Amino acid sequence: MCLFCKIVSKEISANIILEDDDFLAFHDINPKAPVHILAIPKNHVDSFNEASSQMMASMTTFIQKVAIEVNIKDSGYRVITNIGSDGGQEVKHLHFHILGGAKLRWGHLSDADPKGNI
Ligand code: 5GP
Ligand code: ZN
Repeated sequence: MCLFCKIVSKEISANIILEDDDFLAFHDINPKAPVHILAIPKNHVDSFNEASSQMMASMTTFIQKVAIEVNIKDSGYRVITNIGSDGGQEVKHLHFHILGGAKLRWGHLSDADPKGNI
């Protein structure tokens, strides 16, 4: 069973924000912003590559509810999902990072030349 499946089954504890039949939202253990929450489907899905459009439709509503719950809807926030090796995905269970609570920076995300020159 993967790490986030163990959080779903409550085998590993997490600081839960919101939960329904299909989704779970909890605080990231190593926050990168004042608010850093992970939203996951309860059923194991490896990554966004395997996500169905039906599941993503209700995931959208769930993420919107999380933003209201932690009071970042109006101040603004960022939703990120890392996919695979280049995406920097460490936990192989689909999760959306919900980041906010301060003005977030936006800059170069890789050491490679963004224009693709070597
Ligand atoms: P990734 O790099 O896969 O997109 O993000 C994985 C995230 O999961 C990281 O931000 C990391 O801090 C978080 N994380 C890893 N292990 C745990 C854990 O046991 N509990 C919680 N709440 N977050 C975790
Ligand atoms: Zn899993």
